[in-house]
Amino acid sequence: MKVPFLDLKAHHEPIREQLEAAVSAVIDCNAYAGGPFVARFEEEFAAYCGARYAVGVGNGTDALWLSLLALGVGPGDEVITVPSTFMATAEAITYCGARPVFVDIDPRTYTLDPNLLERAITSKTRAIIPVHLFGLVADMDAVLAIASRHGIPVVEDACQAHGALRHGRKAGTLGDTGCFSFYPGKNLGALGEAGAVITNDAQLKTKMQVLRDHGQAKKYFHSMIGWNGRMDGIQGAVLSVKLKGLDGSNSRRRAHARSYNELLAGVDEIVLPVEPASCQHVYHVYAVRVPERDRVLAAMAERGISCGIHYPVPVHLQEAYRFLGLGEGSFPVAERCASEFLSLPMFPELTPEQVETVARELKVCVASLNVHECVA
Ligand SMILES: *Cc1c(COP(=O)(O)O)cnc(C)c1O
Repeated sequence: MKVPFLDLKAHHEPIREQLEAAVSAVIDCNAYAGGPFVARFEEEFAAYCGARYAVGVGNGTDALWLSLLALGVGPGDEVITVPSTFMATAEAITYCGARPVFVDIDPRTYTLDPNLLERAITSKTRAIIPVHLFGLVADMDAVLAIASRHGIPVVEDACQAHGALRHGRKAGTLGDTGCFSFYPGKNLGALGEAGAVITNDAQLKTKMQVLRDHGQAKKYFHSMIGWNGRMDGIQGAVLSVKLKGLDGSNSRRRAHARSYNELLAGVDEIVLPVEPASCQHVYHVYAVRVPERDRVLAAMAERGISCGIHYPVPVHLQEAYRFLGLGEGSFPVAERCASEFLSLPMFPELTPEQVETVARELKVCVASLNVHECVA
């Protein structure tokens, strides 16, 4: 049995008519850039998250960047984040003219290790961006306690954590702003590119609304240098349809994760993801850690199982960030995880048979590694 890593076709087919109707409605109204469909989705998404405001933007990278700009981050500043993330988190910092300062991750949760946070704070630190990697909210209690002691704002990178909970509160509502990507493969995905920032701060909301629209609060009167960071009307309309299915999709992901956990339990070589009691993980990615990951990945592919790696190179070791001068060994946990992470197929429409097949094949692949080791 072949198992794809992701199956967006299976995800969209049951709601195809609603999606087509949403696109049609936008064509009827000529509301393509921002406009009423985006405004409606903003209201719905803010309400879903339990935030006062949502600001629809072009993508998740815009969400992070405009959050930082609205908080006043600029040249000469430092912003703390983790090296175990998608490149965009650091890019947003760099595009403000600021310098990313990395803090290693916790080896169990794969999110910012709060024990290492305080020593990374300097007089130039202007923001902290914890990343809710794979769909698990970072240890926000500890991060917020340290941040507030130092008076530093917190921007949540919730681009993988739509609907995830910590102490019953939604990802993105814990910090000063929460940033979301609606890239098609995310837990809530558009039919193209889109993103949003949520916040309870009216001033930040207004500033981001102006920044995303060329710095104009009134048409053709520009109070600041902004950017074109608006959300498409079509994406807003589509996201209103898809938001209705988010909780259902997340609970299916969680059920698949429970099955994987049960089926893979007790295999010494496989490290399973954890879900702290305070959290509800939404498994945007179900990542295990295995020895000789690249060989396991290839063996799985040979057996028709598509796995992924999120991410093979931690951000501080990316060529683009060589100028930071952070060599190998700088962040040992992130580096080790990058060499061991293996993302198994995870999407709501997976069948129990597919989940069983993936788990069975993974156990076979990992066991055959040991045989090779013995022979060598
Ligand atoms: C997807 C993602 C982003 C960027 O979102 P885009 O919509 O692709 O710009 C940022 N951070 C993380 C952790 C992501 O997974």
